[in-house]
Amino acid sequence: MKALIIGAGVGGPVLALWLQKIGLEVVVAEARSSLALTEGAFLGVAPNGMGVLDALGIAGAIARRGHPCRAFTFSNAAGRAIGRIDRSADERAFGWPLTMIRRAALHAALAEELERRQIPVHFGHTLVGVEQSAAPIEQGARGVEARFANGASLRADFLVGCDGLRSKTRAVCLPDCPQPDFTGLLDFGGFARGPKVPVPPGVNHMVFGKRAFFGVFTTPAGETWWFHNGPAGDAPPRERLLELHRDDPPWIPELIEATPHILGPWPIHELDRVPAWSRGRVALLGDAAHAMSPSAGQGASLAMEDAMELARCLRDLRKPPAAFRAFERRRRPRVDRIFREAQRQSSRKAPGPVGAWFRDRLLPLFVRFGAAAQTEAYSFRIDWEERAE
Ligand SMILES: Cc1cc2nc3c(=O)[nH]c(=O)nc-3n(C[C@H](O)[C@H](O)[C@H](O)COP(=O)(O)OP(=O)(O)OC[C@H]3O[C@@H](n4cnc5c(N)ncnc54)[C@H](O)[C@@H]3O)c2cc1C
Repeated sequence: MKALIIGAGVGGPVLALWLQKIGLEVVVAEARSSLALTEGAFLGVAPNGMGVLDALGIAGAIARRGHPCRAFTFSNAAGRAIGRIDRSADERAFGWPLTMIRRAALHAALAEELERRQIPVHFGHTLVGVEQSAAPIEQGARGVEARFANGASLRADFLVGCDGLRSKTRAVCLPDCPQPDFTGLLDFGGFARGPKVPVPPGVNHMVFGKRAFFGVFTTPAGETWWFHNGPAGDAPPRERLLELHRDDPPWIPELIEATPHILGPWPIHELDRVPAWSRGRVALLGDAAHAMSPSAGQGASLAMEDAMELARCLRDLRKPPAAFRAFERRRRPRVDRIFREAQRQSSRKAPGPVGAWFRDRLLPLFVRFGAAAQTEAYSFRIDWEERAE
């Protein structure tokens, strides 16, 4: 069988590697004109995502380009410490730590692996339409034809939309599907050197600021990676961020000032009401099927898990429509659980003065539950040897 994958973000390349592993011919089509080595800020690949990459033999390549996270710490707008989650035992417990990595470095590592395994990626191919043949797959018909904005078309036995939050695959194949919901929060990020940040390397430090949320991670080489989540507004990014953090610990505005390029905004959306993750020979995976707030730090890792599970279902059930249904059945409960947790965490980020008062007092309790939910998410593994039914 030949598989066509739409999107070379996170889930697409990982799926391509898994499908090649089960012996399929794979082609990837990506809208971007080339590998976007300057795109996005950074993300954390959780131990469960690293486990998927490990099973492909590429976790080491990702770990080498990233940095392990050993703890999360939390403080309020006054700079008072209000919680800590120790993650120093993760590597021993799960094989890999949470790995912080620049998005561009993750894309580059995955693209290199596709190239090494000779999986073709067609850049500059923006999907605009999909036709499914009515002929049964047993009759040898190449079941799907994808059309692209550049006039090209590609045929395959099945197609998987790994094309993210604004998935065209989803729009074409499930036209009645609800649109993603905007959470009201915008994300910005940046990389800086210089100002002293009171956070040791290897710690993800989160500040529940007076008007917005700020996260920071410092690398052993002295670089500071940061992100901001806050309400939407019209002012230019730097001005707006300085204004939103003016009453927070002074190192935050200093860091914003010292950042050469402020990246974003990324409006944060959620999508959990996709009625079905497939139609005939077309399936959805990752954010195209279920996008969640980045607060749980699991979107990329779930896309990687999806890829492994979908490959396992195709290996064992062979016919794409049946494999796609089994895939959805197996994945929905886990995705839904993590979606709710991400929503809970997101709702604490901009709570208003009264909410903030309660949050500061209840955070130690939230941290305990949050740590347990995180550990549960991190410990999940797909048993590749087990047969998918
Ligand atoms: C600010 C922010 C921070 C985040 N932090 C984390 C984190 O720390 N940890 C974590 O696990 N997750 C995080 N996430 C979530 C994570 O980035 C996503 O869940 C993950 O990237 C989903 O992977 P994907 O492959 O489904 O989609 P994407 O990575 O979005 O990839 C989709 C790809 O499809 C391509 N595409 C789109 N439309 C078309 C088309 N019509 N034709 C062809 N190609 C197309 C796009 O160009 C893109 O390359 C964060 C998200 C945001 C916005």
